[in-house]
Amino acid sequence: QSFNLMNLSRPILKGLAQLGFTKPTPIQARAIPIALLGKDICGGAVTGSGKTAAFFVPILERLLYRPRKNPAIRVLVLCPTRELAIQCHSVATKLAAFTDVNMCLCVGGLPMRAQETELRQRPDIVIATPGRLIDHLHNSRSFTVETLEILVMDEADRMLEDGFKAELTEIVENCPRSRQTMLFSATMTQNIDELIRLSLHKPALVQI
Ligand code: AMP
Repeated sequence: QSFNLMNLSRPILKGLAQLGFTKPTPIQARAIPIALLGKDICGGAVTGSGKTAAFFVPILERLLYRPRKNPAIRVLVLCPTRELAIQCHSVATKLAAFTDVNMCLCVGGLPMRAQETELRQRPDIVIATPGRLIDHLHNSRSFTVETLEILVMDEADRMLEDGFKAELTEIVENCPRSRQTMLFSATMTQNIDELIRLSLHKPALVQI
């Protein structure tokens, strides 16, 4: 199989090519067509499976095909650690290199002020750790999730292990109901089950 058979737009095919991705990994082959339909996804996949592109390809397609007149934060990607968020941001930036989609990284250890300024410019995509995102959400002049169209929870099991259940619940409850949600987790525990029930609507199960 090839990305060329997935009906992707040219800027995204160019981004994939520049990253050196020619053939989709199994999670990409399964998740991308489903996510392009706007469905919720519950993905069982570990780091190294290629799941970052599995959710960013459909995210970028949506942003390109449903342009927005006014700037608004349309996509939120939550990652368990600063390192994973940085990695995710780097892949997303390369994938989006031939588009005008803009994104912002919100993680602890970087100055709040600079992130606030970036958030006020309403980037299309925010990639964040839950702790820092909640700080911005509580300082609501810089950030709101009310305009979200897509929410991604990457490595959800690790976020729960790290004690972010309250933060995740608060974020999910503040997002519009009409959003698309993609949740990825290496393990499916009872805790994860609760988060799935809270956040996903008729999800497609993508188990690799
Ligand atoms: P991830 O699971 O998203 O962290 O990706 C794991 C590694 O696989 C990263 O180094 C990616 O650059 C690489 N990768 C992801 N998708 C592909 C692909 N379709 N072809 C080749 N390498 C890939």
